[in-house]
Amino acid sequence: VAKGMGKSTYCFYDEKINNSLMDKIELQSELRTAIENNEFDVYYQAQIDLEKDRIVGFEALVRWNHPTKGLITPAGFVQVAEETGLIVPIGQWVLLEACKQLKQWEEAGFTEINIAVNLSARQFKDADIVETVCEVIKETKIDPNKLELEITESIALENMSYSIAMIQKLKSIGVKFSLDDFGTGYSSMNYLKHLPVNNLKIDKSFLDTVMEDQNDQKIVSTIITLAQTLDLVVIAEGVESNEQAVFLKNVHCDKAQGYLYSKPIPQKDAGFLLEKLRERRNHANLTLEQAL
Ligand code: C2E
Ligand code: MG
Ligand code: MG
Ligand code: MG
Repeated sequence: VAKGMGKSTYCFYDEKINNSLMDKIELQSELRTAIENNEFDVYYQAQIDLEKDRIVGFEALVRWNHPTKGLITPAGFVQVAEETGLIVPIGQWVLLEACKQLKQWEEAGFTEINIAVNLSARQFKDADIVETVCEVIKETKIDPNKLELEITESIALENMSYSIAMIQKLKSIGVKFSLDDFGTGYSSMNYLKHLPVNNLKIDKSFLDTVMEDQNDQKIVSTIITLAQTLDLVVIAEGVESNEQAVFLKNVHCDKAQGYLYSKPIPQKDAGFLLEKLRERRNHANLTLEQAL
């Protein structure tokens, strides 16, 4: 046991490092078990076409049903999963699961629904991703046009020529591509014209301040105009208020996603939501907001 103040502070510090290392090692081994035991879940967050005023898709978002810690969001494990490579089997499972779900909704008559799946850096960098995506499409018999793969700006920019080739390969199968978290990295309009993506997702951080900051409003409307000039569909992420939605409609943003419409919800609840909306809007001329 340390006697002096200095020494004990030192010990405390040392312990802390050990703890975080232990946490990480523990997390790694728990993640391995989690894959074997099927502890993951896919949650779905609605994506709204602002002009049609309808849900036109869902983003698949992974959750970990930890046996003792409960539901864990990606912030709690995706980084370690990425570092260990475990994100590859997890991501493959999410992709398969989301495509199965897409097929089910299509068969239930929800034919306008698309599905968006996030690809990690590891998955995107692995050339096998083309084969994986092909196999999943074949196995689930989905329309590849209804599958959107999301990569972040930083992943796309890491190796531009590889990214362009990879996106083109996957697009030739029929799948679409979205550039996620746009605005958090380089955000240069110059590279955008070289990336053959279909959709651009404006990061939540812009939306957070858009109602207070006139400059942010100008930036967002400029991003939308420029993106649309490049034939990109623009999706605003993290829409939480009605004011934000009104603003986005005024500047002709194509789609929106956020707590205002729906949080990410379990697969069953997403299905119930679609059924509820179909039921309510079939019988009365309700707006999405009224029907939600
Ligand atoms: P993302 O792809 O940008 O997903 C959007 C995140 O914003 C989600 O967090 C969603 O729950 C959250 N969000 C959406 N609308 C709102 C809102 O109105 N307000 C607030 N406060 N938050 C909102 P989530 O589910 O925790 O996911 C975080 C990130 O983890 C995702 O960011 C994505 O990068 C990553 N991720 C999620 N699922 C997967 C996956 O299956 N594979 C990979 N590789 N990454 C994933
Ligand atoms: Mg995403
Ligand atoms: Mg995002
Ligand atoms: Mg994000």
